[in-house]
Amino acid sequence: MTVSTIEAIYAEVLRRNPAEKEFHQAVREVLESLEPVLARHPEYTELKTVQRICEPERQIIFRVPWADDRGEVQINRGFRVEFNSALGPYKGGLRFHPSVYLGIIKFLGFEQVFKNALTGMPIGGGKGGSDFDPKGRSDAEIMRFCQSFMTELYRHLGEYTDVPAGDIGVGGREIGYLFGQYKRITNRYESGVLTGKGLGWGGARVRTEATGYGAAFFAEEMLAARGSSLDGQTVVVSGSGNVAIYAIEKVTQLGGRAIACSDSSGYVVDERGLDLDLLKQIKEVERGRLSEYTERVRHARHVTGGSVWDVPCTVAVPSATQNELDGEAAQTLLRNGLVAVSEGANMPSTPEAVKLFLAAGIAYGPGKAANAGGVATSALEMQQNASRDRWTFEHTEARLRDIMRDVHASCAAAAEEYGDPGNLVLGANITGFVRVADAMHAHGLV
Ligand code: NDP
Repeated sequence: MTVSTIEAIYAEVLRRNPAEKEFHQAVREVLESLEPVLARHPEYTELKTVQRICEPERQIIFRVPWADDRGEVQINRGFRVEFNSALGPYKGGLRFHPSVYLGIIKFLGFEQVFKNALTGMPIGGGKGGSDFDPKGRSDAEIMRFCQSFMTELYRHLGEYTDVPAGDIGVGGREIGYLFGQYKRITNRYESGVLTGKGLGWGGARVRTEATGYGAAFFAEEMLAARGSSLDGQTVVVSGSGNVAIYAIEKVTQLGGRAIACSDSSGYVVDERGLDLDLLKQIKEVERGRLSEYTERVRHARHVTGGSVWDVPCTVAVPSATQNELDGEAAQTLLRNGLVAVSEGANMPSTPEAVKLFLAAGIAYGPGKAANAGGVATSALEMQQNASRDRWTFEHTEARLRDIMRDVHASCAAAAEEYGDPGNLVLGANITGFVRVADAMHAHGLV
């Protein structure tokens, strides 16, 4: 397959999916990696494997009506894109954020297909969510929204069909309400239908921590391959949600000094190292804003607006949202002595930023590899649900660490095999693609 064929496939994706710029970006990044693998495997071209992978197996869009605390009717839109089931049931989170539309869900679902393949676990790829904005909503409103959302979604789910989890705006509380409604409608205690459940009712230890921990483990693997480690590194993490908090925790345990994190209003810098207990109290317990950190830690400073990437560091762990780290931020980071980026978020670096990181030869771990620990641990949760078993924290964390080591090793080996050692973007895309493509071929034209 030639470059012009890949361009033709991309042009077709643009034509068939108009105005979905995040989806276009995610597809382009994968297609750019595939030329060498397609040159070696003519069957992928003959069977139009790339074109088939770019087309979701099923897309569901639905109305989510609910009443707010004043009794006013609200209407949101729900989505579930069941992208690819070659390796197992569709698996991927739900995002509740006002920016959500089909293009965001499709980009996330597409990434998820390759990420899940990279974990080596038997899971396909999907993603869902809603344009619902949970900010400022009461518990009762969140519950009513989740119940209405699940009242449509339940018919598309099942432990062997489609297994959602959390993402931005969907954490343990929301998974609880969603599971309760699923159980009520179906009259089945089907633990394996959702992951990220509470520890008292089918959840797995380490699932809450898994994405952030995994991103830290991935950074450690990348640095080890270069004869270095996280020990003594100065780390900046964007976001202050689930992924960010546990990335900070693990980075710190591995000897790094995490000095800054952010939310959508600004960022906090604490040169003595972020106080994790306080962060958890503000974000997880009080559901407050990050600016409250400096009210309690006088030596720290809060910057409203601005970019957290202006804070000098040697390791960056972007853990907020897509396209939050652009070319200008990448230049600033590189000027300040950056040696590694491990992406906790999905597609947080713009294409320009990725090019700059690769050209500079620093260790760059793309999200579909570096944040795969979350979904991998979700698969471990499904495994425990299926066997009615419950593992210890230590055992589960050891499995997570092994999986992250394996993800890194597979990506590094593919990068080497295809002639660009150290390029983990190439390595991740090729490894994920080949695993999914080969399973699709085995299943015939379905
Ligand atoms: P949370 O909702 O727990 O936290 C999101 C954080 O990012 C918050 O601090 C939020 O700030 C900030 N943020 C969100 N949107 C924006 C925005 N548009 N601009 C600036 N800041 C923003 O989500 P998670 O931690 O679960 O997810 C973070 C990222 O990690 C996402 O890209 C997600 O897809 C990815 N991811 C998550 C996994 C998981 O297991 N949870 C698994 C793999 C990837 P504010 O509160 O102000 O909105």
